[in-house]
Amino acid sequence: MLKQYAVIGLGRFGSAIARALYEANNEVLGIDINEEIIDEHQDIVSHAIIADSTDETSLKNVGIRNFDTVIVSIGDNMQASILTVVILHELGVKHIVAKALNKHHGLVLSKVGASEVVYPERDMALRIAHKLMSPNIIDYIELSKEYSIEEILIPSKIVGKSLINLNIRARYNVNVIAIRHKNEEMEIAPDPHYIFKDHDIMIVIGKNKEIKGLANFKEFINE
Ligand code: ATP
Repeated sequence: MLKQYAVIGLGRFGSAIARALYEANNEVLGIDINEEIIDEHQDIVSHAIIADSTDETSLKNVGIRNFDTVIVSIGDNMQASILTVVILHELGVKHIVAKALNKHHGLVLSKVGASEVVYPERDMALRIAHKLMSPNIIDYIELSKEYSIEEILIPSKIVGKSLINLNIRARYNVNVIAIRHKNEEMEIAPDPHYIFKDHDIMIVIGKNKEIKGLANFKEFINE
């Protein structure tokens, strides 16, 4: 079913979220205090309106309570972002996602009613750092502080070897849960006798430290 989202603050982050939600066929209301920004968004979202989100009446008038999710992406003005979340919570919005500039800001946003707090710059920086340290790692999902699921591009030196040959589980305590081929086809729970092909990506689950050990494939150089 079509979902209704409102995005408050159409800076780079808010605008990108609003656009992505709209392009995925959701109904998106964009709200910003700046008229120029609203003009630019007329064709990018379902509706774009000028309003100050720290004004309770304006939010009430657009029926903000009826939206499934409201995303608060007011940048530098922490006071305005906090006050906006307070008002949304007061008005009974069930799902409030708020962008925080730092940990303290995030803590306050959670306390005053944000259901989810996101730290886009920090998260992107961590992802990029992770990728820089392990270039074979294509993507990852953090399951907890210690465990994750990661996609690792296999180096050409293990093409032609099987999972059994590589003995990954015994060596690293890491489980290969799927293999994605170059043509995007997947082998879920691959057969241990599967022979790796060029450009395969293995999707593994395990401890971060152990996955990192596997991802540099040092042990396999002389085999
Ligand atoms: P990004 O990195 O995502 O671009 P930013 O830190 O540059 O974020 P800002 O430009 O500070 O973000 O703010 C985001 C948007 O929020 C701006 O377009 C600004 O006009 C809008 N905004 C600020 N205060 C309010 C408010 N009280 N009500 C509605 N919109 C607001």
